[in-house]
Amino acid sequence: MKKINVIPYPETVELLGGTVNSAVLESCEKITDESGTYGEEGYAIQLDSRGVTVTAGTESGFFYAEQTLRQLRESAELPCLSITDRPAFRYRGFLIDSARHMQSVEELKTLIDAAALLKFNKFHWHLSDDQGFRIESERFPLLNSVGSYRDSSDFGSEHLNVRYGGYYTKAEIRDLVAYCAERRIEVIPELDVPGHATAMIAAYPALSCRRLSIPLETKQGIFNNLLCAGSEETFSFLFELLDEICELFPSQYIHLGGDEAPKTYWEKCPKCRAKKAELGFDNLEQLQGWFTNRLIAHLAENGKKAIVWNESLNGDNLDPAATVQMWMDRRGKSAIWANRASSVIACPFGAYYCDYPYSMTPVKKTYDYDPVFKGVAPIMKKFVIGVTVPLWTEYVSDFDRLCYLAFPRFAAVAERGWTKKENLNYDSFCRRFAAVTPLLNRLGVKPAPQSDWDPNQLNRLIKTIGFFKDKIDPESIKNSFGSTNR
Ligand SMILES: [Zn+2]
Repeated sequence: MKKINVIPYPETVELLGGTVNSAVLESCEKITDESGTYGEEGYAIQLDSRGVTVTAGTESGFFYAEQTLRQLRESAELPCLSITDRPAFRYRGFLIDSARHMQSVEELKTLIDAAALLKFNKFHWHLSDDQGFRIESERFPLLNSVGSYRDSSDFGSEHLNVRYGGYYTKAEIRDLVAYCAERRIEVIPELDVPGHATAMIAAYPALSCRRLSIPLETKQGIFNNLLCAGSEETFSFLFELLDEICELFPSQYIHLGGDEAPKTYWEKCPKCRAKKAELGFDNLEQLQGWFTNRLIAHLAENGKKAIVWNESLNGDNLDPAATVQMWMDRRGKSAIWANRASSVIACPFGAYYCDYPYSMTPVKKTYDYDPVFKGVAPIMKKFVIGVTVPLWTEYVSDFDRLCYLAFPRFAAVAERGWTKKENLNYDSFCRRFAAVTPLLNRLGVKPAPQSDWDPNQLNRLIKTIGFFKDKIDPESIKNSFGSTNR
């Protein structure tokens, strides 16, 4: 590997001999190539004593070339070189959970700036959950006046006895969507259904099986409050809400959640049981598959595609048009999904979940994880369309902590999403990340110090135990850990 300080590392780097002062990068000649050589996102850079030339076939290609040049400018002197580059995967996502704790629009823009620098192209925005609904809705105003506020926050050992909440206005969302579009990032909102829906049910109790008035959840975990699958009222609500969301987000994808939906109330609900019988299903996982498929069909009418978490596969009847996001899949259904020529995104709990400490998930573990995960047949690997690195925020209420957990992990996943396998090298990544850090600092992001990234075994054990002792109360471990992705 040639020593150039760029993340993600480019496809090919050729040294031409000699060096130039990086001031030469200030002016750049652009050549549009219409032959298709560089694909949707690729580009070439030629840098020598005469200056710098960028060639690309698309606006995205020119944008990514510029991100490479921004990083090269961090060095005072550069080798004369020629780069040709294109991504390994077309879907390169980062997830921010704004439901458990919100970030200000400015903070989100800072993260988006950093993500764009690392050539991410999808912002998976988690906007609804048991602890808060964060999208302004004109059609369903109680989603905001009731569903956006919880009475307290009781995540782990932290108990904050103050009302918490808010939501992003349509104007703020449109502003962020436009901000992302300028940076070649698609914003994909997640409406998590039928589980993780307490905030919606608190606002509109008739959406649930029991139709009882309940408050928002204030703890982390998995809850039994599901939207009722046997009631047409649920679907007319969701269709209308999805129409409102589709209007607001120009993305090709909408995320429909589908994770962690215990069927306790569906089991008892006369309407859900009747629907299951009417459809001739053997189990309620099939009812969830049917529920999700109706929403997928509705999205298709809006010209949108759906992404769902891997539990949506448990009924074995999911619409093959859906893209599955694999986070924890002991049954191996996501790999089978890819092997049947449907799309999957790698979002592995053990390697990518940023809410856990470095002692539990060291950076090297994140970096070493192969997005073409176990069980995917080599011949079907193109159905792994990419990666998403998630940051859940039950335990992350301030921006410094968020940045500490997200960086360098976001950069590690960015490199896995873009760089060809043969060019991956963890030691080189660490060195390059150090070189890129001043640039991230200027954007407003302060990464974890390198001494924290890969603790030795003893420290891993001590710190991980400390984290669970401090952050997670025993009741919720029983309730959630081991099967939760939140
Ligand atoms: Zn029901």
